[in-house]
Amino acid sequence: MIDKTRLKERVLELVRIDSLSRKEGAIALRLREIVEGLGGAVFMDDAGTAVGGEVGNLVVHFDGNVDGAEPMLLSAHMDTVAPGEGVVPVVDGDVIRSDGSTVLGGDDKSGIAIILEVLEAVREEDLPHGHIDVVFTICEEVGLLGAKHLDLGLVRARTGLVLDSDSIGFLITRAPAANLVEFEVHGLEAHAGICPERGISALQVAARGIAAMQLGRIDEDTTANLGLVRGGTAVNIVPNRVALTGEVRSHDEDKLERQTQAMVACLEEAAAGAALELDGRRHEARVESRIRRQYDRMDVPHDTAIVRRVHEAARNLGFAVDTVAKGGGCDANVLNQRGLQVANLASGMRDIHTVHEWLDVNDLVTAARIIHEVVRLEGSRQACLDASLKHS
Ligand SMILES: [Zn+2]
Repeated sequence: MIDKTRLKERVLELVRIDSLSRKEGAIALRLREIVEGLGGAVFMDDAGTAVGGEVGNLVVHFDGNVDGAEPMLLSAHMDTVAPGEGVVPVVDGDVIRSDGSTVLGGDDKSGIAIILEVLEAVREEDLPHGHIDVVFTICEEVGLLGAKHLDLGLVRARTGLVLDSDSIGFLITRAPAANLVEFEVHGLEAHAGICPERGISALQVAARGIAAMQLGRIDEDTTANLGLVRGGTAVNIVPNRVALTGEVRSHDEDKLERQTQAMVACLEEAAAGAALELDGRRHEARVESRIRRQYDRMDVPHDTAIVRRVHEAARNLGFAVDTVAKGGGCDANVLNQRGLQVANLASGMRDIHTVHEWLDVNDLVTAARIIHEVVRLEGSRQACLDASLKHS
């Protein structure tokens, strides 16, 4: 049975362990200890070397005790965002908050705690189950790097669940693709007080370009944002360089491409209008654009076994789980892109990436009970099949 007290203690223990991206060494060590205690065989891949982190992804095999059941993946990420060091959880009944000076780190320690509790319960009850592969990834928060470098040779399961979303009662099967967009606007440097007419302000060119852009919510599938602006050297220098960084996300590849190119065009148009004749030489502002795919679209069909299984499990327990599309990207995007079929089950974290982050242990219990039931369904179906084969 899912044990609420044990789950609560676990989440409190985990949020106290610092684990910023690339610094997942301490939590990986503790998780290794816990899962070995539960009978898992632990592997660590080389993702840490690839991304310059302390450790790689932790892959844990729990061997099944019935034959023929589909191996199941359960995954959550170990890293948290800043400010996330020295977390002091504040407990108010079943609600756990940070003390307001850091995030809580329920993103994604809620997911880790839920997975560990399911494993505890499965073992305690000696529940018939297929192979369970647990993957605790690194560096999700800095570009899904752990999942991108995950050694799939260590993973037996090809379907399962990632636990990494706020709220509860949702199964995310669709998520957008995202482009990272980086622009460098080049103008012409000049003394701002003595000869500003000999300069082209890269800042002004960028501003014109940005003003012409459509940003924010573009349509039901698409969003766009410029999140970082860096440039200029001093108040008395006409700035010759401004760098802009942003992103475009869409559930639709064509719309993603169109919006990305529209942003490029706005800046190029603004640059084309900024030219200067100086000492017989023509100077023009120009834009360098760099577009990189951050992650691909995720679209797990609704008739996939894992989606059907989650709904069946929730129904058995009297919970409602809605299948939804969401605007965020997570490890599940990468795992689907790499050929697995993985949906993202909400794990109860709230107000994530803020110092007001909180969670309700009852939500974690709900998610754990659903997964436990998914494991039970797969195992019992196979156990029944085995028994009927033996008798025939
Ligand atoms: Zn997360």
